[in-house]
Amino acid sequence: MHIIASEVDFHMHTSASDGELAVEELIDRAQRAGLQQIAITDHDTVAALPRARQLCQQCGLKLVAGVEVSSRWANQDIHVVGLGIDDQQPALQARLASQIQRRRERAMAIGEKLSRLGFAGAYEAAAEIAPQGVPARPHFAEMLVKAGACRDRKQAFQRYLAAAKPAYVRTEWPQLDEVVAWIRDAGGVAVLAHPGRYKLTRTKLGRLIQAFAEAGGEALEVSVSTHTPDTVSWLANQCVKFGLYASQGSDYHGPSMRWVQLGKMPPLPSSCQPVLDRLNT
Ligand code: AMP
Ligand code: MN
Ligand code: MN
Ligand code: MN
Repeated sequence: MHIIASEVDFHMHTSASDGELAVEELIDRAQRAGLQQIAITDHDTVAALPRARQLCQQCGLKLVAGVEVSSRWANQDIHVVGLGIDDQQPALQARLASQIQRRRERAMAIGEKLSRLGFAGAYEAAAEIAPQGVPARPHFAEMLVKAGACRDRKQAFQRYLAAAKPAYVRTEWPQLDEVVAWIRDAGGVAVLAHPGRYKLTRTKLGRLIQAFAEAGGEALEVSVSTHTPDTVSWLANQCVKFGLYASQGSDYHGPSMRWVQLGKMPPLPSSCQPVLDRLNT
C-alpha cells in the first residue's frame, strides 16, 4: 500500500485557520486515529496552540507547536511549516499579526471582486463560514458552493479563486528566506511544506529546495498524502543531496475532504532522517 496509518502527523489545520474542526474535535479525532504525536500547523496563526497544549496534556498525546507560514519565492506562493516553535515569542506573534492583517485586506479585496461578479455580500457570507478567523480562499469556495454557483470547492477554485482566475487577489507575502528566519528566530525547525504540490518543474523545484536550504530551512515534507510514490522518492533523494531532514504530514483540513485522513500518508523512505530526530535534539 502506498498510504499507511502512521503514529506521527506533523501537518493539520483547525478552525483557527481553514480547518473545519475546532481544536477539541481535531484532537479527539487524532487520538481515535491512533496518533501518538501531532503538530497543529494553522495558516499564519498559533491561536489554537494554548488550548491544544492543555488538551494534549490531559489525553497523553504529544504535541509539537507548529504553524504554516505563507511566503513568496519566484512569483509563487510557498508554504513553510515551522515545527517546535516558541509560539508565545513576541517577535513571532507580531510577525504573524502582520500576516493576518494581509489576509484581512486580501479577503476584503476577494469579497469585492466576487461582489462585482454578481455575488453581493460575498465577504460577509465567507466570514460567517470562518467565525474564528479571517476568511481564507476555502471559505470563499464554500460560500460559492452554498450560493449554488459551483458544484464543489475544487470547482470554485478552478473557476474563481485560483491564480489568474477572476476573483484571485495576489498577495505580497514575505519572501521565503525571511519566513525561514522568523521560524528559526522562534526556536523552530523550518520545513518546506508539500513540495510536490507547487506548479514547478523538477528543475525549478530543485532550485526552490536549494534556496530553502541556503536560507536555513532544515527539512522537506517528503511524506504527504497527495504525493505520488515517484515524488516521495525524488524528495527523499533531495533530502540526502542537501542534508535535510524529512517530515510527514497529512495536511488534514476536516472530514469533508474524504481523501485526506489524519495520520494517512506514504511511509518515509528508509534513506530519510526523520525530522523527529531533529526535534528531539
Ligand atoms: P489561502 O490560504 O487563502 O491562500 O488558501 C489556500 C488554501 O486553500 C490551501 O491551504 C488549501 O487548504 C486550499 N486550496 C488551495 N487550492 C485548492 C484547490 N484547488 N481546491 C481546494 N482547496 C484548495
Ligand atoms: Mn489550507
Ligand atoms: Mn499549504
Ligand atoms: Mn496546510
